[in-house]
Formats: sequence, C-alpha cells, structure tokens
Amino acid sequence: MYLRISITDRCNMRCLYCFPKGYKKLPKKELLSFEEIIELIAVLKDFGLRKIRITGGEPLLRKGVCRFAEKLFSMGIPVYISTNGALLERFAHSLRDSGITRVNVSVDSLREDRFGFITKTPLLPQVLRGIETAQKAGLEVKVNSVLMKNINDDEIFDFLDYFLPRKIRLRFIEFMPFPHTRNQFEKLFVPYEEILNRISERYSVSYAGTDGVAKEFKIKEFEATVGFISPVSKPFCRNCDRLRLTASGKLKVCLHSGWEFDVKEILRHGNKGRLKEAVKEALELKAQISSPRWKAERSMVEIGG
Ligand code: SAM
Repeated sequence: MYLRISITDRCNMRCLYCFPKGYKKLPKKELLSFEEIIELIAVLKDFGLRKIRITGGEPLLRKGVCRFAEKLFSMGIPVYISTNGALLERFAHSLRDSGITRVNVSVDSLREDRFGFITKTPLLPQVLRGIETAQKAGLEVKVNSVLMKNINDDEIFDFLDYFLPRKIRLRFIEFMPFPHTRNQFEKLFVPYEEILNRISERYSVSYAGTDGVAKEFKIKEFEATVGFISPVSKPFCRNCDRLRLTASGKLKVCLHSGWEFDVKEILRHGNKGRLKEAVKEALELKAQISSPRWKAERSMVEIGG
C-alpha cells in the first residue's frame, strides 16, 4: 500500500485546475500535526505500507517538512515528495540530506506567459532553477505535466526537447474532473492516446511497460522514456493501491470517490483500536473499487495530488 499525504492545503500557486476560486484555507489547528500523521503511519505500517509521498498544497511551505521526511525514513519507509518547484532552489540540499532521493516537480508550461496564466504566478524561471539545483544536489527529478486543450497542448515537443536531454523523466497526466473543473472538462480534456499519437508521428515510439500506474513509452531518438497517467481514458483502479490523507485529516480510499474516514477525529478523541479498525475498513472498501466514481467532493489542493 502506498500513502500520499497532503501536509498542507497552503500553496504559493493558484493553478486553474487545482485551486478553486475563493478556496478558504483550513485553520492551522485543523491540519494534522506531524506527530499525529506519524501515529497513523505506525498503524498503516502493520497493514503493509511500503511507500509514502509527501504532497499538498505545496509541501515545501510547511515548516519542518525535511525533519518530518527524516523521521519517516527512520521508520523504514521510502519517502518521495511532489512540489511545484518554486522553493526547490532553497530546499534541494536539505531534502537530499533528509534521505529523499527523488522529487516530482509539476511544470505545465515552458512559456512564461502561459505559466503565468495557468499558475497565476511569474515563477517559471525559479522553478527551472529549482530543478537544476535539485539535480546538482543529486536528486532524481521527474516532471509531471497536465496538458489542456488549447492551453498548453501544443507544448508536447517543447517538453520533450527541454526535459529529456537533461535526464529529467517526464510524465503527462490527464486532466481530471473535480467539483470546480467539471464544467470545463469537455473543453480542456486531452486523452493520453492523442498525445502518444502526436509523439509517434514524429518519433519512433515503443511500449516499455508500466511504472506504478504510469504507462511508459520509449522514444528512440531521445534514448529516454515518457510516461502517461490516464485516470480518465484508461482508469487503473485494479492496479491502484493508493490511500490519501487529506490536509484536513481524512483518509481517502480513492481520489475520485467521496468515501473517506475521519482519522483526525479518531487521532484526537479515539484510541489506537479505533484507528486500526478504520484502516482495516478503508482497505476493505478500497479492494471493492473497480472503476472511478468521479465523485470527489474536495479539490486537489486539499486532497493532495
Ligand atoms: N504543489 C505540489 C505540486 O505542484 O506538485 C503538490 C500538489 S499538486 C495538487 C500535485 C499534482 O496534482 C500536480 O502535478 C498537479 O498537476 C496535479 N493536479 C491537480 N489538479 C489536477 C487536475 N484537475 N487534473 C490532473 N492533475 C491535477
């Protein structure tokens, strides 16, 4: 089992597909403390937890994130992190020193004006410098990109040209519907096969297998692979063993269902026995999911991507 933890719902970007207009951040006391998260993780470990991803919001905004990662490593669990990269220049070395070996960075455009339109920030140069610093610090960098029709889907080849020669792994993620993006979904959605076909028209592409929930394809001319995550056009529920802990302390069994367990309530007012029962129930529920229900009631900034 793989746990993605949103350690904060604060973010220094306002990505149009992620951050709902008017979103009110949670009061600090509603966020789980690192100690509370660790208590949950100790229980999950007994149920086969094998990997953790720290995410958010923007996880590098939360004070103590590197010490938290270090603590998780000391529990014997590999830890990875997803970031928008804006603070990576500052944090790359501390992340590496905490034991982290790989960071996922979200980059949806290599053009400053578009990056500004998507994220509502002028931070593209800072993000690219952050990626460079991370590589220099010895971290493996994977870039995730969400392509949206008529917004950035003409940048496929720019992404390949920029990232692959720099030994940065690249993955295209399909745009997913959330409460605040459902009305734009038809207009913006680009299925992964369309991206793959466009790449195949220009380059020699061959299937290279799966990496977690991503399908990987080798591009001969780059001697590199590119990955696709296709939760919408080709859902992968049967291969998904992810649980998510929201910033507000809900354990979610699926990104796209409303089913969740209020572990914060148990952690603050219950006991270890109840926590174990909730985890067991969550895993049983998870095993029953065979297709996405597209019923997420929260946005990604709160659930954690
Ligand atoms: N701030 C960090 C970052 O930028 O990677 C972590 C949180 S962010 C919510 C994690 C990932 O969720 C990002 O790669 C983002 O592109 C993805 N994401 C958010 N909303 C999405 C949507 N509607 N469809 C597809 N991916 C989405």
